[in-house]
Amino acid sequence: MAKEELECSFCGRKKPETNLLIAGLDAHICDRCIEQAHGIVLEESKQTDNAELSSELMLKKPQQIKAFLDEYIIGQEYTKKVMSVAVYNHYKRLLQPPTDDDIEIQKSNIVMVGQTGTGKTLMAKTVARMLNVPLAIVDATVLTEAGYVGEDVESILTRLLQAADYNLEKAEKGIVFIDEIDKIARKSDNPSITRDVSGEGVQQALLKLLEGTVVNVPPKGGRKHPDQKFIEVNTEHILFIAGGAFDGIERVISKRLNMAAIGYKSSHDDEIVDKDNMLQYIIPKDLKDFGLIPEIIGRLPVLTYMDPLDANTLRAILTEPKNAIIKQYKKLFDMDEIEFTITNGALDYIVEKAIEYKLGARGLRSLCEEILTDAMFEMPSSGENKLNVTKSYAENKLTKTTLKKLKAVS
Ligand code: ADP
Repeated sequence: MAKEELECSFCGRKKPETNLLIAGLDAHICDRCIEQAHGIVLEESKQTDNAELSSELMLKKPQQIKAFLDEYIIGQEYTKKVMSVAVYNHYKRLLQPPTDDDIEIQKSNIVMVGQTGTGKTLMAKTVARMLNVPLAIVDATVLTEAGYVGEDVESILTRLLQAADYNLEKAEKGIVFIDEIDKIARKSDNPSITRDVSGEGVQQALLKLLEGTVVNVPPKGGRKHPDQKFIEVNTEHILFIAGGAFDGIERVISKRLNMAAIGYKSSHDDEIVDKDNMLQYIIPKDLKDFGLIPEIIGRLPVLTYMDPLDANTLRAILTEPKNAIIKQYKKLFDMDEIEFTITNGALDYIVEKAIEYKLGARGLRSLCEEILTDAMFEMPSSGENKLNVTKSYAENKLTKTTLKKLKAVS
């Protein structure tokens, strides 16, 4: 064959019609065919990813899911159990082959009610970590109705796409954690007084996402713009977990319980109400009375609550989870070949201060940081190779001013 007659063995284009023609043993391939082939390879590997995802998801039964959560989250038994079942059912729904009966399994989106710092975000993160699916954490307070200052609800999906490295299939099976859902509650019980930009409108906008729909998402976020290209994201298989402190909802609950007591007073109905943990009695109606619209509540059918953290729980959070704070410091010191130990007295002291200054679980880390900063600064150069933190060591490092400062920032 004469040289000028070389052609692509795949598409038959002559060499002059191509930008590049690469020679193999007996064949040639042009740049366009390479690109096309590369596209096919990518597509195939995505499908394999999905198959892997599916088989991974299939393996975990609710009790296994709970056991995984147990490794990272202390206490919160009820939520861990409810969450394990909800997650299991969600992925069962997602993996079910099409059937011809008319039974459609509803999405098991979840709403968690509990004070800040009780582990709501940790719960969502741990589930996502276990399932190895992308997770987007968004704050409901930044969301506004389309057309107002703030972020459109679609931005939630932009975050999820980013978390999935723009792999659409992965994003469509991901988890979205919407924090501070209580902040978009309707401010008054009367829906018609004024237009409530940040509240009810956002709830309305969220509805379709929660339910499952195809949304045009601006891949880089920001406002929708006529010239911007959109990615179509189907939210049908995305698991939404909402969380919020719902400050003051205890009053709604106790009011309802008292009313019920008056209504149906009977001698054996006098169950003792645990006033320190009213959230355990929460029902969907309380969310409605708090200001969530009934449609949103209907689309978050799994309702669960977080227990307040007592001293024992805080103490366990310091040392027990797989990546407990104390284990992390131990590892950091280990890297400098410093043997780090901490006495029970010191641990109790840290917990005591966290409670006294109402710092919660989040404060445990700041307290440890204050206690250990000097050592972490000095010891790597000083040549000392042992650090035993006792109660008096901790007391010395934590002055009143420091504690007040921590309280102010928490
Ligand atoms: P929330 O979302 O409820 O405000 P987070 O999940 O952000 O709370 O928790 C704050 C910090 O406290 C996290 O870093 C987490 O490590 C720790 N924490 C809170 N509750 C628990 C718990 N039950 N078990 C282990 N760690 C916890």
